[in-house]
Amino acid sequence: MNIILLGPPGAGKGTQARRLVEDRQMIQLSTGDMLRAARTSGTDMGKRVAAVMDRGELVTDEIVIGLIREHLTNDQPAAGYIFDGFPRTLAQADALGNLLAELGENLDRVIEMRVDDEVLVARITARSTCKNCGEVYNDATKSIPADHVCTNCGEKTEFIRRADDNADSLKTRLLAYYKQTSPLVGYYYARGDLTSVDGLASMEDVAAQIKKALA
Ligand code: ADP
Ligand code: ZN
Repeated sequence: MNIILLGPPGAGKGTQARRLVEDRQMIQLSTGDMLRAARTSGTDMGKRVAAVMDRGELVTDEIVIGLIREHLTNDQPAAGYIFDGFPRTLAQADALGNLLAELGENLDRVIEMRVDDEVLVARITARSTCKNCGEVYNDATKSIPADHVCTNCGEKTEFIRRADDNADSLKTRLLAYYKQTSPLVGYYYARGDLTSVDGLASMEDVAAQIKKALA
């Protein structure tokens, strides 16, 4: 089963993707994570995208489609892929359709995570992640442990904030979402692939809604 998690920044795509990886052994393909990894390892591409990402703009279709293509050419996982943060434009959606078709694979479901804009801003400006395992913490719902031992990986670690999790780039990311990505909601709805879930519900409840959509 191959699925897309679609939704604005802060909708909880990454959190739910991590659960699906644990519960169903699916493979998470997050273009955001791939791009951040390219920056950390200092590749040419990583250097080229850094400023664009920090501003909150989209990197080019060519780059992200290339990243997805690289990750899809390996052996197909039996449990399928979770596309997290990809596609973000109609051109990316078409490219994904073609790549899956070349592999003889289908897109089984697109899960749209709906969240109010004010909640997104509140979530993102309060967000940090475990440097060791990437577990997401949020001042409102799951605050950083006083002893700095991550509840997920058990390591004593640092909790880092993303460079683009600030008010200015968040505004740009939201604009990019509404202008470039939100048309995908209608596109997948028309194809009969879309299920919308209430991203404002608790983490458990969102997971349950997704489980039902994939049953
Ligand atoms: P979020 O969903 O929280 O905004 P991501 O981690 O998915 O964050 O993405 C971070 C940044 O990486 C985006 O703001 C954008 O600059 C870039 N990016 C990630 N995925 C894509 C994509 N599919 N197309 C274009 N740019 C992308
Ligand atoms: Zn951790």
